[in-house]
Amino acid sequence: MHGVPADAVAKSLGLTTPELKAFEQSGTPPRTLDFVPVAPLLKLSAPRLENLLRGWHPPAVDLTLWRELRQLTSHRDGLSVHCYLVWDEVTREAALFDTGLEPDLVLNAITENDLTLRQIFVTHSHFDHIDGLEVIRARHPRAHLHTSAASALPQHRNKPNDFLQLGSLRITNRETPGHAEDGATYIVGNFPEDAARVALVGDALFAGSIGGMGGGGDAARAKIREQILSLPSDTLLCPGHGPLTTVAEEKEHNPFFG
Ligand SMILES: [Zn+2]
Repeated sequence: MHGVPADAVAKSLGLTTPELKAFEQSGTPPRTLDFVPVAPLLKLSAPRLENLLRGWHPPAVDLTLWRELRQLTSHRDGLSVHCYLVWDEVTREAALFDTGLEPDLVLNAITENDLTLRQIFVTHSHFDHIDGLEVIRARHPRAHLHTSAASALPQHRNKPNDFLQLGSLRITNRETPGHAEDGATYIVGNFPEDAARVALVGDALFAGSIGGMGGGGDAARAKIREQILSLPSDTLLCPGHGPLTTVAEEKEHNPFFG
């Protein structure tokens, strides 16, 4: 994403270019590597990168604090992706954030919790996030579809900082392009018992990482800083892949923001 040639990265790690390619594919280096020299080349914080490679992981999040939030993880062909269902406990009105790859997971969660699906929010239009859209919309044709202003999907494009009421919950949006041109982040607040607000970030930000992109890394990082890391530090971050995290954890540990 910063246009650094693969052979320069390989050299800084003491690898050949084919060894680097194999490492990128397998995730396992051919031998113990010193990653410190590669950090500045990739514009990463060296101490944070080392910490991550030593096995840093955000502390597990106790989701029982957010009783009206479910993380649904679907799988296909070795790929796994999260989507999220949020609802108001009293009115049972629900909002779905992305669909994942197995729409039955979503449909069953709606039935089991006796919910009415009112809104569907799309964080970005990569297939693993919207693959279930057709099936879910066929079963819930009255649910409104919300997408980034930049989305090619036809309906209900977000207006910046629009807000929407779902029972007592409030949902707002922020544009977070980078990993995807139509990347959007949704923020849900006003949970009962003062549980912190929740940000559904799609693939813009992951625990200790960010979503891959072809170029424009600096602009995307600035957007994430501005639109996501500026949220209150206890905000729960719900990404499309990998563990849940918080604004505080990412501000302190994410090597892309050192
Ligand atoms: Zn994606």
